Amino acid sequence: MGILVKDDSDYNSLLEILSKQLNINLMSTCLEIKYQVKNNYPPMKITDNGNVSFYLELKMNAPDYTIQDKNQQMHQDQHMRLAQQVKKGKEQLSDVINYATFLNNEFTHDEDKVESNFKDDNVITDTRHREIKEGQSYKNKTVLKSVLSSFAIHNHFQFKVRRSCERQYFLSCLDTNCTWKLNATRKGTSQIFIIRKLNINHNCSMVVRTSDQRQATSSVIGGYIKSKYTNLKIVYKPADILRDMRDDHGIKMSYSNAYRSKVVAQEMLRGKPYDSFSLIPSYLYMLVVANPGSFVKLELKDANSFLYIFMALNASIKEWEFCIPVIAFDGTFLTSAYGGMLSTACAQDGNGKIFPLAFSLVDFENDESWEWFMRRIRDAF
Ligand SMILES: [Zn+2]
Repeated sequence: MGILVKDDSDYNSLLEILSKQLNINLMSTCLEIKYQVKNNYPPMKITDNGNVSFYLELKMNAPDYTIQDKNQQMHQDQHMRLAQQVKKGKEQLSDVINYATFLNNEFTHDEDKVESNFKDDNVITDTRHREIKEGQSYKNKTVLKSVLSSFAIHNHFQFKVRRSCERQYFLSCLDTNCTWKLNATRKGTSQIFIIRKLNINHNCSMVVRTSDQRQATSSVIGGYIKSKYTNLKIVYKPADILRDMRDDHGIKMSYSNAYRSKVVAQEMLRGKPYDSFSLIPSYLYMLVVANPGSFVKLELKDANSFLYIFMALNASIKEWEFCIPVIAFDGTFLTSAYGGMLSTACAQDGNGKIFPLAFSLVDFENDESWEWFMRRIRDAF
């Protein structure tokens, strides 16, 4: 059956027309409108005015598009006849529903299938999973690799990657004569990896198994130790990582690997230092929104690179007139990836206590940066 719609129809009018034609009550029934662009294409949904205009646009450009003469108005009795036909043709209606269900089942995206599989308890999504078995499914290759690295570390052996591609992950023990082997392949078109074959027994020597742990990469160790960096007060140095990895997991690792692991762990928690610089403008904006009357200034070297930043909170600016009129300046170098210097201006309040007035972050301690800081102090106070 066919219906006529105005070429300026919107979503609601389309819903109304369809509900009348199908003789359903929109208050109690949820109507989903879908169409197919071509055979074997997944159905497209119409959910708003934009979708309706897109659909009409598409139809108008189609070679078999039928236009009703605008002068020719459909007579009331034609409407009646159509309505009666619809009532008679209940089978037709069920055909439409069946077809819609068929399309929905047939063309659901693979990604959707993967998503629904995640709800399946059998798919391993947690990289802290400790047991490996033949037949296990993993959310994707990254999870599988991470679980296997940890597994090797915990079970004191090392593996060699024989083949690693989009479809396969094939490992053997580091000792070529050893029987330990694992073969995992991708499940169909999904991202899921399944362990197809696993020989869990080793017959290699302990010498091979206890030499330097190659699975202890900075990203694996970084994942282990990242919880240590959630508390800013705890100092956890590369030497501590070396000691803990040796005592807790029996891993011998180099200092440079421990240092890299520390950097990776901090990046996992706080992101890359490089990216933090791009947050400065929004940080300053929020600082002024949250503390109206504050004075902030960002100085750039060129359009895209950071030079200086200055901030004095409204509370400090207001309090300044009650302070002893002497300002003390000091600076300290920073140990982050990009170095720099933090300079501060302090005064003494009426109670004789140190009162912070302003902060600034500059590239180096030199005449230019101090002068810039002094000038901003004059602007602010
Ligand atoms: Zn082995």
